[in-house]
Amino acid sequence: MLFVKDLEAGYGEMQVLWGVNLEVRKGTITTILGPNGAGKTTTLRAIFGLNRPWKGVVEFDGKDVTYMPPHRKVEEGMTMVLEGRHLFPSMTVEENLMLGAYTKHAEERLEDSLELVYTLFPRLKERKKQKAGTMSGGEQQMLAIARALMTAPKLILMDEPSQGLAPKLVAEVFETISRLKDEGLTILLVEQNVFASLEISDYAYVLGEGMVVAEGTVDEIKESEAVKRAYVGV
Ligand code: ATP
Repeated sequence: MLFVKDLEAGYGEMQVLWGVNLEVRKGTITTILGPNGAGKTTTLRAIFGLNRPWKGVVEFDGKDVTYMPPHRKVEEGMTMVLEGRHLFPSMTVEENLMLGAYTKHAEERLEDSLELVYTLFPRLKERKKQKAGTMSGGEQQMLAIARALMTAPKLILMDEPSQGLAPKLVAEVFETISRLKDEGLTILLVEQNVFASLEISDYAYVLGEGMVVAEGTVDEIKESEAVKRAYVGV
Protein backbone atom coordinates (compact mmCIF):
# COMPACT_ATOMS: atom_id res chain seq x y z
CA MET A 1 0.00 0.00 0.00
CA LEU A 2 2.88 2.37 0.83
CA PHE A 3 6.39 2.35 -0.63
CA VAL A 4 9.07 4.70 0.57
CA LYS A 5 12.25 4.74 -1.49
CA ASP A 6 15.51 6.52 -0.66
CA LEU A 7 13.70 9.20 1.32
CA GLU A 8 15.82 12.14 2.41
CA ALA A 9 14.57 15.05 4.50
CA GLY A 10 15.65 17.49 7.17
CA TYR A 11 15.17 20.88 8.75
CA GLY A 12 16.88 23.97 7.31
CA GLU A 13 20.43 22.91 6.53
CA MET A 14 20.35 19.87 8.76
CA GLN A 15 19.77 16.56 7.03
CA VAL A 16 17.94 14.02 9.23
CA LEU A 17 16.89 11.24 6.84
CA TRP A 18 19.64 9.73 4.70
CA GLY A 19 17.73 7.44 2.39
CA VAL A 20 14.93 5.64 4.23
CA ASN A 21 13.42 2.60 2.50
CA LEU A 22 10.29 0.95 3.78
CA GLU A 23 7.11 -0.72 2.73
CA VAL A 24 3.73 -1.05 4.41
CA ARG A 25 1.54 -3.89 3.23
CA LYS A 26 -2.21 -3.60 3.09
CA GLY A 27 -4.01 -4.75 6.24
CA THR A 28 -0.92 -4.82 8.44
CA ILE A 29 0.44 -2.90 11.40
CA THR A 30 3.98 -1.82 10.61
CA THR A 31 6.05 -0.18 13.31
CA ILE A 32 9.06 2.11 13.15
CA LEU A 33 11.31 1.79 16.19
CA GLY A 34 14.57 3.47 17.05
CA PRO A 35 16.32 5.59 19.65
CA ASN A 36 15.56 9.26 20.30
CA GLY A 37 16.50 11.48 17.41
CA ALA A 38 16.78 8.62 14.91
CA GLY A 39 14.32 10.36 12.59
CA LYS A 40 11.10 8.42 13.22
CA THR A 41 8.84 11.45 13.49
CA THR A 42 10.58 13.10 10.56
CA THR A 43 9.92 9.98 8.47
CA LEU A 44 6.18 10.15 9.20
CA ARG A 45 6.07 13.89 8.58
CA ALA A 46 7.87 13.53 5.25
CA ILE A 47 5.58 10.67 4.17
CA PHE A 48 2.47 12.69 5.02
CA GLY A 49 3.87 15.89 3.51
CA LEU A 50 4.20 17.98 6.67
CA ASN A 51 7.89 18.17 5.76
CA ARG A 52 8.78 18.36 2.11
CA PRO A 53 11.00 15.43 1.10
CA TRP A 54 14.41 16.50 -0.21
CA LYS A 55 14.83 13.38 -2.31
CA GLY A 56 13.26 9.98 -2.84
CA VAL A 57 9.82 8.67 -3.64
CA VAL A 58 6.66 8.05 -1.63
CA GLU A 59 4.19 5.83 -3.43
CA PHE A 60 0.70 5.28 -2.03
CA ASP A 61 -1.78 2.87 -3.56
CA GLY A 62 0.23 2.76 -6.78
CA LYS A 63 0.46 6.55 -7.09
CA ASP A 64 3.48 8.82 -6.70
CA VAL A 65 2.45 11.14 -3.85
CA THR A 66 5.93 12.41 -2.91
CA TYR A 67 5.11 16.09 -3.26
CA MET A 68 1.38 15.92 -2.64
CA PRO A 69 0.33 18.17 0.28
CA PRO A 70 -1.29 16.57 3.34
CA HIS A 71 -4.87 17.67 2.57
CA ARG A 72 -4.65 16.02 -0.85
CA LYS A 73 -3.26 12.86 0.71
CA VAL A 74 -6.25 12.79 3.06
CA GLU A 75 -8.48 12.78 -0.03
CA GLU A 76 -6.46 9.84 -1.35
CA GLY A 77 -7.06 7.90 1.88
CA MET A 78 -3.96 8.60 3.97
CA THR A 79 -4.22 10.29 7.34
CA MET A 80 -1.98 11.07 10.29
CA VAL A 81 -3.07 11.14 13.92
CA LEU A 82 -1.92 14.38 15.40
CA GLU A 83 -1.44 14.57 19.14
CA GLY A 84 -4.33 15.48 21.44
CA ARG A 85 -3.20 19.05 21.64
CA HIS A 86 -4.19 19.60 18.02
CA LEU A 87 -7.87 19.21 18.90
CA PHE A 88 -10.17 22.21 19.18
CA PRO A 89 -10.49 22.46 22.99
CA SER A 90 -13.55 24.72 23.16
CA MET A 91 -15.54 22.61 20.71
CA THR A 92 -17.42 19.49 21.71
CA VAL A 93 -16.24 15.95 21.09
CA GLU A 94 -18.77 15.51 18.30
CA GLU A 95 -17.89 18.84 16.69
CA ASN A 96 -14.24 17.79 16.66
CA LEU A 97 -15.23 14.51 15.01
CA MET A 98 -17.31 16.29 12.38
CA LEU A 99 -14.35 18.49 11.53
CA GLY A 100 -12.42 15.35 10.67
CA ALA A 101 -14.90 14.52 7.92
CA TYR A 102 -14.04 17.46 5.71
CA THR A 103 -13.41 15.82 2.35
CA LYS A 104 -16.14 14.83 -0.08
CA HIS A 105 -15.11 11.17 0.32
CA ALA A 106 -15.37 11.45 4.12
CA GLU A 107 -18.65 13.35 4.03
CA GLU A 108 -20.24 10.60 1.97
CA ARG A 109 -19.20 8.09 4.61
CA LEU A 110 -20.01 10.27 7.60
CA GLU A 111 -22.65 8.05 9.17
CA ASP A 112 -20.64 4.85 8.80
CA SER A 113 -17.53 6.54 10.18
CA LEU A 114 -19.40 7.94 13.16
CA GLU A 115 -20.87 4.53 13.89
CA LEU A 116 -17.43 2.91 13.72
CA VAL A 117 -15.94 5.58 15.97
CA TYR A 118 -18.68 5.28 18.57
CA THR A 119 -18.42 1.48 18.52
CA LEU A 120 -14.67 1.62 19.04
CA PHE A 121 -14.86 4.42 21.60
CA PRO A 122 -18.10 4.19 23.60
CA ARG A 123 -16.71 6.78 25.99
CA LEU A 124 -16.65 9.36 23.21
CA LYS A 125 -20.30 8.62 22.50
CA GLU A 126 -21.19 9.14 26.16
CA ARG A 127 -19.30 12.39 26.11
CA LYS A 128 -20.12 13.71 22.70
CA LYS A 129 -21.43 17.02 24.07
CA GLN A 130 -18.44 17.58 26.35
CA LYS A 131 -15.84 20.18 25.38
CA ALA A 132 -12.72 18.45 24.07
CA GLY A 133 -10.45 20.57 26.26
CA THR A 134 -12.03 19.22 29.43
CA MET A 135 -11.38 15.56 28.55
CA SER A 136 -8.53 13.65 30.21
CA GLY A 137 -5.25 13.13 28.36
CA GLY A 138 -6.20 9.58 27.46
CA GLU A 139 -9.63 10.58 26.23
CA GLN A 140 -8.11 13.34 24.12
CA GLN A 141 -5.73 10.83 22.57
CA MET A 142 -8.68 8.57 21.74
CA LEU A 143 -10.48 11.56 20.24
CA ALA A 144 -7.44 12.38 18.11
CA ILE A 145 -7.45 8.81 16.75
CA ALA A 146 -11.23 8.97 16.27
CA ARG A 147 -10.98 12.22 14.37
CA ALA A 148 -8.42 10.71 12.02
CA LEU A 149 -10.86 7.83 11.42
CA MET A 150 -13.53 10.32 10.37
CA THR A 151 -11.53 10.99 7.19
CA ALA A 152 -12.46 7.39 6.20
CA PRO A 153 -8.80 6.48 5.62
CA LYS A 154 -7.11 3.38 4.21
CA LEU A 155 -3.76 4.12 5.84
CA ILE A 156 -3.26 5.76 9.24
CA LEU A 157 0.10 7.16 10.33
CA MET A 158 0.46 7.38 14.11
CA ASP A 159 3.24 9.17 15.94
CA GLU A 160 3.67 7.80 19.46
CA PRO A 161 0.00 7.40 20.33
CA SER A 162 0.85 6.06 23.78
CA GLN A 163 3.07 8.98 24.75
CA GLY A 164 2.34 10.48 28.15
CA LEU A 165 -0.44 8.05 29.00
CA ALA A 166 -0.86 6.05 32.19
CA PRO A 167 -0.07 2.32 31.77
CA LYS A 168 -3.72 1.27 31.75
CA LEU A 169 -4.50 3.74 28.98
CA VAL A 170 -1.42 2.66 27.04
CA ALA A 171 -2.84 -0.87 26.92
CA GLU A 172 -6.17 0.56 25.79
CA VAL A 173 -4.58 2.52 22.95
CA PHE A 174 -2.70 -0.54 21.69
CA GLU A 175 -5.87 -2.61 21.84
CA THR A 176 -7.68 0.04 19.83
CA ILE A 177 -4.96 0.05 17.19
CA SER A 178 -5.30 -3.70 16.94
CA ARG A 179 -9.03 -3.34 16.44
CA LEU A 180 -8.46 -0.81 13.66
CA LYS A 181 -6.53 -3.49 11.85
CA ASP A 182 -9.42 -5.90 12.37
CA GLU A 183 -11.62 -3.29 10.70
CA GLY A 184 -9.41 -3.60 7.61
CA LEU A 185 -7.26 -0.52 8.13
CA THR A 186 -3.53 -0.35 7.50
CA ILE A 187 -1.34 1.29 10.12
CA LEU A 188 2.14 2.75 10.20
CA LEU A 189 3.11 3.34 13.80
CA VAL A 190 6.02 5.14 15.43
CA GLU A 191 6.55 4.03 19.02
CA GLN A 192 8.94 4.34 21.94
CA ASN A 193 7.04 1.61 23.68
CA VAL A 194 8.98 -1.15 21.93
CA PHE A 195 7.55 -4.29 23.43
CA ALA A 196 3.91 -3.22 23.55
CA SER A 197 4.03 -2.07 19.94
CA LEU A 198 5.74 -5.25 18.76
CA GLU A 199 2.95 -7.25 20.39
CA ILE A 200 0.44 -5.85 17.90
CA SER A 201 2.75 -5.44 14.88
CA ASP A 202 3.19 -7.60 11.82
CA TYR A 203 6.44 -6.07 10.67
CA ALA A 204 8.94 -3.57 12.06
CA TYR A 205 11.72 -1.28 10.93
CA VAL A 206 14.46 0.03 13.18
CA LEU A 207 15.81 3.46 12.34
CA GLY A 208 19.23 4.63 13.43
CA GLU A 209 20.64 8.02 12.45
CA GLY A 210 18.24 8.56 9.59
CA MET A 211 18.53 5.14 7.98
CA VAL A 212 16.88 1.74 8.34
CA VAL A 213 19.35 -0.39 10.30
CA ALA A 214 17.14 -3.46 10.70
CA GLU A 215 13.81 -4.77 9.55
CA GLY A 216 11.83 -7.93 9.87
CA THR A 217 8.91 -9.74 11.37
CA VAL A 218 8.34 -9.25 15.06
CA ASP A 219 10.25 -12.42 15.97
CA GLU A 220 13.20 -11.42 13.80
CA ILE A 221 13.27 -7.93 15.29
CA LYS A 222 13.21 -9.23 18.85
CA GLU A 223 16.34 -11.26 18.05
CA SER A 224 18.00 -8.49 16.08
CA GLU A 225 21.41 -7.22 17.20
CA ALA A 226 20.53 -3.73 15.96
CA VAL A 227 17.54 -3.62 18.27
CA LYS A 228 19.55 -4.82 21.22
CA ARG A 229 22.23 -2.24 20.43
CA ALA A 230 19.62 0.50 20.11
CA TYR A 231 17.80 -0.31 23.31
CA VAL A 232 20.00 -2.13 25.75
CA GLY A 233 21.14 0.31 28.37
CA VAL A 234 18.53 2.90 27.40
P1 ATP B 1 12.10 10.95 19.31
O1 ATP B 1 11.85 9.52 19.56
O2 ATP B 1 13.00 11.57 20.30
O3 ATP B 1 10.87 11.76 19.01
P2 ATP B 1 12.65 10.69 16.49
O4 ATP B 1 13.30 9.44 16.05
O5 ATP B 1 11.20 10.84 16.21
O6 ATP B 1 13.00 10.97 17.98
P3 ATP B 1 12.90 13.13 15.02
O7 ATP B 1 11.90 13.85 15.84
O8 ATP B 1 12.54 12.73 13.65
O9 ATP B 1 13.44 11.85 15.78
O10 ATP B 1 14.20 14.05 15.01
C1 ATP B 1 15.36 13.75 14.26
C2 ATP B 1 16.32 14.91 14.38
O11 ATP B 1 15.75 16.08 13.80
C3 ATP B 1 16.69 15.28 15.79
O12 ATP B 1 18.06 15.58 15.82
C4 ATP B 1 15.87 16.51 16.08
O13 ATP B 1 16.51 17.36 16.99
C5 ATP B 1 15.75 17.16 14.73
N1 ATP B 1 14.50 17.91 14.58
C6 ATP B 1 13.25 17.43 14.76
N2 ATP B 1 12.32 18.38 14.54
C7 ATP B 1 12.99 19.50 14.21
C8 ATP B 1 12.61 20.83 13.86
N3 ATP B 1 11.33 21.20 13.80
N4 ATP B 1 13.61 21.71 13.60
C9 ATP B 1 14.90 21.34 13.65
N5 ATP B 1 15.32 20.10 13.96
C10 ATP B 1 14.40 19.19 14.24
